[in-house]
Amino acid sequence: MPTISENIQALRAELPGDVALVAVSKFHPAESIMEAYRAGQRAFGESYVKELLIKHEALPKDIAWHFIGHLQTNKARLIAPFIALIQSVDSQRLIAEIQRCAFRVNRQIDVLLELHIAQEATKSGFAPDDCTAFLATFNKENYPNVRIRGLMAMASNTDDEAQIAREFRVAADYFDFASKRFFADDGSFDTRSWGMSGDYPIAVGQRANLVRIGTKIFGERRY
Ligand SMILES: *Cc1c(COP(=O)(O)O)cnc(C)c1O
Repeated sequence: MPTISENIQALRAELPGDVALVAVSKFHPAESIMEAYRAGQRAFGESYVKELLIKHEALPKDIAWHFIGHLQTNKARLIAPFIALIQSVDSQRLIAEIQRCAFRVNRQIDVLLELHIAQEATKSGFAPDDCTAFLATFNKENYPNVRIRGLMAMASNTDDEAQIAREFRVAADYFDFASKRFFADDGSFDTRSWGMSGDYPIAVGQRANLVRIGTKIFGERRY
């Protein structure tokens, strides 16, 4: 069995230089994160606020923590003091709360809008039309402490690689549309977060520049 550190090195060697790697550490213990950290990894993704708070407290302060799960509005304030990127913003209500919390701790918080591209009805995120409606009314001046950096998306959980590629292409095309229409004067809308352990090569083929990989680094999660 390759070690965590070998897995990180293999992924870094495989991924193009302009694709960021976020190690998804949910359900994995602090020692595993430290092994990845010693291999040079600094960006880690977590899905649960309680687990993230414990790990943030215990682990080195130069880790960039990404929140990738569904964030309940009433928990945003708990992670606002330190979170590097909230990848899973899926409502106006949530981004308004992130603005309030970021203001209180005097930070600017980077976020991604989660785009719903999968066939499954269960996955969260904005449908493209809803995302457009949201962006059309989003007035940056009212959100000085939030910066929308791009999009996050998850493909359907299927073996059909053509379907996965089609879904990621929807995300990539939508990124181009949104970036032209709403962020033409704003170079900070630059992040395309799609691809996990099972589908990251397809995602990179569809212009992902950030991949979120858990199992392929840390092994299976024990829930
Ligand atoms: C758990 C999770 C991942 C990582 O999944 P793996 O298949 O273990 O790589 C990526 N993105 C999100 C949003 C997740 O919840």
